[in-house]
Amino acid sequence: MNAETALASYAARSSASPGRRFAEAPATSRSEFQRDRDRIVHCTAFRRLEYKTQVFVNHEGDLFRTRLTHSIEVAQIARSIARNLGLNEDLVEAISLAHDLGHTPFGHAGQDALNACMKDYGGFEHNLQSLRVVDRLEERYGAFDGLNLMFETREGVLKHCSLPNAARLGDVGRRFIERKQPTLEAQLANLADEIAYNNHDIDDGLRSGLLTIPQLDEVDFFARNRREVELVFPGITGRRAINETVRRMINALIVDVIATSRENILAAKIHTVDDVRNAPPLITFSSAMQDEAATLKRFLRRNLYQHFQVNRMTSKARRVVTELFGAFINEPVLLPPDYQVGAASGEAPSPDTATAEQARKVSDYIAGMTDRYAMREHRRLFTVGEI
Ligand code: MG
Repeated sequence: MNAETALASYAARSSASPGRRFAEAPATSRSEFQRDRDRIVHCTAFRRLEYKTQVFVNHEGDLFRTRLTHSIEVAQIARSIARNLGLNEDLVEAISLAHDLGHTPFGHAGQDALNACMKDYGGFEHNLQSLRVVDRLEERYGAFDGLNLMFETREGVLKHCSLPNAARLGDVGRRFIERKQPTLEAQLANLADEIAYNNHDIDDGLRSGLLTIPQLDEVDFFARNRREVELVFPGITGRRAINETVRRMINALIVDVIATSRENILAAKIHTVDDVRNAPPLITFSSAMQDEAATLKRFLRRNLYQHFQVNRMTSKARRVVTELFGAFINEPVLLPPDYQVGAASGEAPSPDTATAEQARKVSDYIAGMTDRYAMREHRRLFTVGEI
C-alpha cells in the first residue's frame, strides 16, 4: 500500500513480507497489516478478552482493566511510539491487539495451573497459545483454519518460545534458533505491553485499595511524578492526583523509549529490516529508565501480585483450572463433542487412554474460557444441584 512508502527504511513492509501461509488475493482498500488487525478485531478470541483478567478477576469490579482494555492500551502506546519512529503502525497495532489472545482465564495463575496440568503433554505457554489461536483455533474461513495472518504479525505474537517448540514451529520459530531479533514493530509491541501493565496495575491497585499512595511513594519514579503534579496543581487529591501522576509516568516512559530507540538505531547503523534482525534489541528504555521500571516491577510483585487478597484469588483460580482439567482428562465424554478426540468419527474416546491429543484439546477448551465461564463450568461439574 502507498502508506508504506512513507515509513522509515527499517520499518516492516507488507511488500517485502513472506506473506500468508495460504495465498489470498491482495487486499484492495487496506494494507495487508490493516487486514490482519481487522481479522483480529472480528475474531471470537478477541471478544473473550473482555471477560479475562490479569490481576483482578472480572467480577471484582467494573472499572478494573480486562485483557481487552489492556490490549487496546498496549496498541495505543505502541502506535504513538511507532509514529514517532517511522515504524509500521498497522503492524504494531495488529500485534498489540493479538498479543494476549492465548491467555487462560484468571491471568498468570490460570496459565501456571494449566501448564502444570499439561506437563506430561508438552506444557502450556500463553504466547504459543496466542499463535495457536490465530493459526489454528479460530474457525472463520472456508479455505483455512485460523486467521491466516501475515508472517510478521504471527512472529510478533510469538514473543518467547522454547527451543524444542521453536524447532517444531518452522518459519516463526526460526529466529529463536538463529538467535535473531523480530521486527522493530514486534519489539515495540513487547515494550508497550510492559509500559501498559506496570502503569495500569498501579492505577487498579490504588482503585482496589490494595495499594496506597504512601506505599507507592517508596518508588522514586512514582514519588517524583506525584510531587510534580502537586507543584502544578497545589492541593490536588483523589483520582485526579492519581491519574495525573500515572499519565506523567506513561509519558516519561514513552518519551524515553522514543529517544533511546532512535539513538540505538542510529548507533547500530540500521537501514533495513535485515539489519534489525541481526542487531541486538533496538527498542529499549535507557539504562536509567530500565532501572526505574525494574524497581516498579519489584514493588508491584511484592505489594500487589503477592497481596494476600490477590493470593486468595490466585489459589482459587488454580483450583478451578486444575479441577476442570482433571475432570475432563479423566472423562472426556464430559467435553463438548468438538473437543472429544474420536467423537467426530463416531468412536467413543476411552476414559483411560488420555492421549496427548486429547490433553491438548482439553487445554484448548480451558484456555478459551473466560473467567466467569470457567467458574460457571466448575459449578456445573462439581456442585450438586447446578446444571
Ligand atoms: Mg499483555
